[in-house]
Amino acid sequence: MRLSRYFMPILKENPKEAEIVSHRLMLRAGMIRQQSQGIYSWLPLGKRVLDKVNAIIRDEQNRAGAIELSMPTLQSAELWQESGRYDAYGKEMLRIKDRQDRPMLYGPTSEEMVTDIFRSSVKSYKDLPLNLYHIQLKFRDEIRPRFGTMRSREFMMKDAYSFDLTREAAEHSYNKMFAAYLRTFDRLGLRAIPMRADTGPIGGKLSHEFIILADTGESEVFCHKDFVDFDIPGEHTDFDSVEGLQAIFDKWTSLYAATSEMHDEAAFNAVPEGDRLSARGIEVGHIFYFGTKYSEPMGAKVQGPDGKEHFVHMGSYGIGPTRLVPAIIEASHDDNGIIWPASVAPFDIVVINMKAGDQACDDTCELIYAALSKAGKDVLYDDTDDRAGTKFATADLIGVPVQIIAGPRAVANGEVEVKDRKTGARETMTIEAAINRFVA
Ligand code: ATP
Ligand code: MG
Repeated sequence: MRLSRYFMPILKENPKEAEIVSHRLMLRAGMIRQQSQGIYSWLPLGKRVLDKVNAIIRDEQNRAGAIELSMPTLQSAELWQESGRYDAYGKEMLRIKDRQDRPMLYGPTSEEMVTDIFRSSVKSYKDLPLNLYHIQLKFRDEIRPRFGTMRSREFMMKDAYSFDLTREAAEHSYNKMFAAYLRTFDRLGLRAIPMRADTGPIGGKLSHEFIILADTGESEVFCHKDFVDFDIPGEHTDFDSVEGLQAIFDKWTSLYAATSEMHDEAAFNAVPEGDRLSARGIEVGHIFYFGTKYSEPMGAKVQGPDGKEHFVHMGSYGIGPTRLVPAIIEASHDDNGIIWPASVAPFDIVVINMKAGDQACDDTCELIYAALSKAGKDVLYDDTDDRAGTKFATADLIGVPVQIIAGPRAVANGEVEVKDRKTGARETMTIEAAINRFVA
């Protein structure tokens, strides 16, 4: 992508409305724009990051056996009347009427919709287990939307829903998502800790919030510090192995970890003092087993091996991609801007032409840009006629992991500089060496 032909509206000044660093940097880097309170456009640079986050989420959902579909944002109130949630859900639900005066709503979540899809076609236990997910916009009329897309009214959610014949089978489905979430957040460059969450009237222990430790987090959390170094399940994890996944779950729930709603002071105090971590955190995911809460009122049942009908046991599993993007920035930035983990960076490499219009600089940059693009790299080429200082500042701000800098003096020697955004380390090397480093 040539910057001269791209749309990346950088802000020079710090936006006053931004209270936290991720919000400030997303606005300054031209990633998002607020359209009305808590409702955002994702501008091209932001959209690239969001797409990369979603690609990782999708990859890990698929690995764990979940199947993607797409359900609508607008839902009929009727479905929600069946589950009883149309009245129970408060003012967070945006209620709308269509031209026939039929009550509709902008979905805050999709349990009812997916249960309706399930009951319309699944009739036998032989079709289970089943886990369906989508990545879709949601709307919740949050009382206090704030911090940019961290807590917005319209936001994106990956929501998966599992269906099983028995509670035991549902536990395995839960463990699959549990392991998939550990892998997902790790690939996003984050350390997320699963913490016990309230199960309400369902009871049991199968509800976990995945929390990233961050000073700007809205939740108060308490956990054992060893979680910070726990091993993440590898890419060859066998998601069909009941024992294998149970072992992962047992290990990751063996130490104390709870948010303030579930906090048990006595149990926390039993953790050796030096191992206690009390901090603030950002909830980036939430998984929940809720048994037959929706299948019973909505009549979602299958025939079991005993020939009888059984209400299916369900769970739901949410991740917030539009919250994850700022969460990643909270975890990875410096005074100059964002530092993207390579896995979600909007571009892999930025080529900086320090003197656009200078024949040797132009030729060198074109050569590098073409070679790296051909090798499948996402390359941003800063071919604008801004001052070099402005270009450096922009490259640092938008956080692309590698900068290849071509200035007249180095280029005269057949060389360029390669800068690592994270460490700031710079290396001078031949043009060929710079290309080869990233084309392996
Ligand atoms: P919170 O306590 O932060 O309001 P929640 O418990 O309402 O979250 P869930 O219903 O479990 O959230 O939704 C699943 C995921 O969707 C959350 O873990 C979060 O990542 C994301 N999410 C929820 N509400 C928002 C929001 N207003 N803005 C952005 N992301 C959100
Ligand atoms: Mg909420």
